Amino acid sequence: MIIDGYEGICTGCFEPIKNGDGFKFRESGRSFHKWCVESNPNGYYIKLEEIEGRFETASQEELPRLMTELEQAYSIPMLNNEVFNRDNEDVIKLYRRISSAREL
Ligand SMILES: [Zn+2]
Repeated sequence: MIIDGYEGICTGCFEPIKNGDGFKFRESGRSFHKWCVESNPNGYYIKLEEIEGRFETASQEELPRLMTELEQAYSIPMLNNEVFNRDNEDVIKLYRRISSAREL
């Protein structure tokens, strides 16, 4: 829901974002306060959006690096783990998208 004078809800702190205070890593991505991104660059969804934003313009050579960053930032298990996948659906979805982009 968009309220007059606000551009959305921050996915970092879940407070409304006043017009002009917002930041997005990619056009269709989640919104944040500029200061939430600056003060907490490794926040769960902030890091995820940052990596997804780079994925949108990444070359084939950059894809392995993005996967490694995801593995380290979210401690993705080496073996497929249904509990992890369920608790981190957005992380594992992005990880799989990058992985399949590599195989093309
Ligand atoms: Zn915020």
